[in-house]
Amino acid sequence: MNDHERLRALISASLKEADHLTLYDAWKRLASLRGEVDAEEALSEIAKAFLKVEPKKDAYAFEKVLAKEVRPKEARPEKLTASLLRWMVRFLREVKELSLSKSLVEELNQQECLLHRALKESGSTGTELGEVLYATFREFKEQIRRIYESLLERDYINAYLLYVRAVKSFFNLFTLLSTLSLKRAAHEAKTDPLTGLLNRRYLMPVLKDVLELSQYAEKPFTVALLDIDDFKKINDELGHLVGDCVLKELAKLLKSFFRKGDYVFRYGGEEFLVVMPSTGKEEARRLLERLRRRVEEHLFPCTKGGLKLTVSVGACSDAYAGDREPEYYLACADANLYRAKRAGKNRVVL
Ligand code: GH3
Ligand code: MG
Ligand code: MG
Repeated sequence: MNDHERLRALISASLKEADHLTLYDAWKRLASLRGEVDAEEALSEIAKAFLKVEPKKDAYAFEKVLAKEVRPKEARPEKLTASLLRWMVRFLREVKELSLSKSLVEELNQQECLLHRALKESGSTGTELGEVLYATFREFKEQIRRIYESLLERDYINAYLLYVRAVKSFFNLFTLLSTLSLKRAAHEAKTDPLTGLLNRRYLMPVLKDVLELSQYAEKPFTVALLDIDDFKKINDELGHLVGDCVLKELAKLLKSFFRKGDYVFRYGGEEFLVVMPSTGKEEARRLLERLRRRVEEHLFPCTKGGLKLTVSVGACSDAYAGDREPEYYLACADANLYRAKRAGKNRVVL
């Protein structure tokens, strides 16, 4: 038996006994001899052996996660996690047979579309988390593509080296997607599904923060309540869908009108509430008057030829002295809104 044959005998004996330590040891020793024909061959044997054994272990782990932790009926990131896990299990099954089907590799493009949607819907496009997720996914996809090619060329050494990295990337993806799920849940808790504006549940924490800021920075703030005039008529005469379209369009207008530091909420059906930090009464009056005119001039593209409407606004400004409940300002804005309606609508009262 020459050295080479002895090594083979050792490898196959170790494999039979699933003696990974000996194999890893041999792998490490041989890795320093890369380039020498015998070493290359032996390394290839071991890589092949690893490729047959490790995916089985990994698949077992992923199948367990899939069965236990993922509820695929939930929102997108969870759906993506589940479909990626299922993809991974199929991948592992194919890899241990030392071949990979092209269609499986190409399925990753669909997963990338899912990822794109999941990011969008959790408001994470363009965020650091979003960028890292994209980068990790692309890296993973590239590693898989190269495993596919290496297996085609029977380059088991490279296939195995890439395999180890791909499994690592997959774990990273998995962790990042859990973070995305949490982000999405937080985003959903904050936003109104029809308009994408902040919802009422989030109002009190925001208002309290703004009051506190007003007190410590000794700066005034303004709370404004805005209500569409004769909205019931739009609903009754043109239908609910037109009503919904108007709400969405107005939300868009409000979002683009107010500044980055202002908070725009959907307060009720056709009522919107804006909290403006560092904004005193006169500034608020000018701003809200400009908004009132902007709405009056806007053509809402919700019917053939578009639709015109007006809004009434009631607002309340103050420099917070720590002496009032936050609810006071909501009631104050509401009372002024009522005055605006009584005075003939399409006006600002504060
Ligand atoms: P005013 O000028 O006094 O404000 O009169 P109005 O008709 O706007 O006020 P009213 O409060 O009587 O009507 C509000 C309507 O808003 C009643 C309800 O059917 C409608 N509405 C509430 N939420 C929604 C929604 O999500 N979509 C649609 N399409 N309509 C809604
Ligand atoms: Mg109303
Ligand atoms: Mg109304």
